[in-house]
Amino acid sequence: NEDLKGQRVAVIGLGTSGRAAAKLALARGASVLAVDKNEKLVPLELDPQFTEHADIQTILGYCDNSHLANADSVVVSPGVSLQDYNLSTLLQSGRQVMSELDFAAEVLPKEIKVLAVTGTNGKSTVTSFAGQMLHHLDIKAFVGGNLGKPLSEAALSCLKACSMQDAYQVAVVEVSSYMMEIPNSYFCPSVAVVLNLTPDHLERHKTMQNYAAMKCRLFAHMKDPKLAVLPVGNPYLNESFSNHANGCNVAWIDDFPGIKVNVETKVATLSTPTGSTTHLLLGDLKAMGTHNYSNAAVAAFSVLGLNLGIDSDTINSTVGKLHLLPHRMQVVCTDAHGVTWVDDSKATNVESTYAGLMGLNEHKSVVLLGGLAKVLNDQETNGFEQLVGLLNRHRGVITFGSSGAMIHKTLCDSGLRIPCVNTKNLEDAVNCARTMAMRGDMILLSPGCASFDEFRNFEHRGKVFQHLAVSA
Ligand code: ADP
Repeated sequence: NEDLKGQRVAVIGLGTSGRAAAKLALARGASVLAVDKNEKLVPLELDPQFTEHADIQTILGYCDNSHLANADSVVVSPGVSLQDYNLSTLLQSGRQVMSELDFAAEVLPKEIKVLAVTGTNGKSTVTSFAGQMLHHLDIKAFVGGNLGKPLSEAALSCLKACSMQDAYQVAVVEVSSYMMEIPNSYFCPSVAVVLNLTPDHLERHKTMQNYAAMKCRLFAHMKDPKLAVLPVGNPYLNESFSNHANGCNVAWIDDFPGIKVNVETKVATLSTPTGSTTHLLLGDLKAMGTHNYSNAAVAAFSVLGLNLGIDSDTINSTVGKLHLLPHRMQVVCTDAHGVTWVDDSKATNVESTYAGLMGLNEHKSVVLLGGLAKVLNDQETNGFEQLVGLLNRHRGVITFGSSGAMIHKTLCDSGLRIPCVNTKNLEDAVNCARTMAMRGDMILLSPGCASFDEFRNFEHRGKVFQHLAVSA
């Protein structure tokens, strides 16, 4: 177990992932140097969760690079960029600099099959759907990564487990582009999914080409059956994938052969180049939004792709039991005026709002858009003009928050024909929506923006919205 005995591991970033990595390093016998820019954090050696370990030193605030250069390996949390702490120079000089994901994967038992999920939107939903399917089929699965528990926690459980029966058969891991900034060596999925790719996180990755390259690193070291799942026709992904496609079997999303969903019949089909087809019946899926049919299909066909001996009928039996995570097209309530409130606070970019609106079918909504708009590739547009055609089918739009006025102007300049009012903050937006909505309508918070101008995170924004909804 103690494969790092006598070694010093520097862990950078002391959020959930960094702390889990520090625990794993200690369990592997290493001494730990814990580093974070935030001077207000409690040093790990004073944290009750760590006090049984003597081998920890924490540096908060400024950290001289010599400390990192002297460590045997440096483990980097997803929130820390390669520009910080001169990490790119350290990496180029050949030092062992690894992501938390790879540090954990290094000690995952070889028997555990990994299903990795990335993409701009829908990662958590697909990860959670796949995890729920496995759970309903009594297959012991770790579900985490960028969502919930970091992979280091799974690795730690495996180290502590007495036998493989106690550990996991499968790890379903949500992976963000930040987690792939340092190339991985040990993280080897059997099935890897890049759901979609649209502009996001460009303040860190700078270009779409870089962003796509991070995502496609998932395909670099795959294990059998090496199933790559990705959308057809995305130029950035096509280019990056061709660099990594070595020997991968591919299921293209929305193509034939590949994964295709018929939203009318609610049947998804997986067809392979050899002519075999598998059907998935989605009629029982209890999740608002047609994009969730596609998410369920990708999850189901990815689970089948792990070759665990599950057949399609068995997977079909789980579809009706799936539920969405909170703040993703979550129906909050129908109030006394017959208005249904839907919380899609996790829609932090324009494409996720687009997907939410596409899935509403005939429902008329008052749509709440705003917060802090994302930086886009060419800076000349904020992307909200793409929503105008869909929005024109609805009751009205309320914009709010620090980017509210800009979004309002974009929509009005782009041919919006329904009422559109700009307000200061979410509470004002909700009050205004209430006066606009008619019986049978929905009030949909699908803001298309980050939340940090007014809230701690999207969960906080969603909870405030839900509170306002039920107190209507
Ligand atoms: P992520 O983990 O990638 O942020 P989530 O599953 O948390 O994705 O969903 C984020 C937002 O994207 C939500 O508003 C959700 O309704 C929307 N969404 C979910 N699946 C998709 C999809 N396949 N395509 C586009 N948007 C999606």
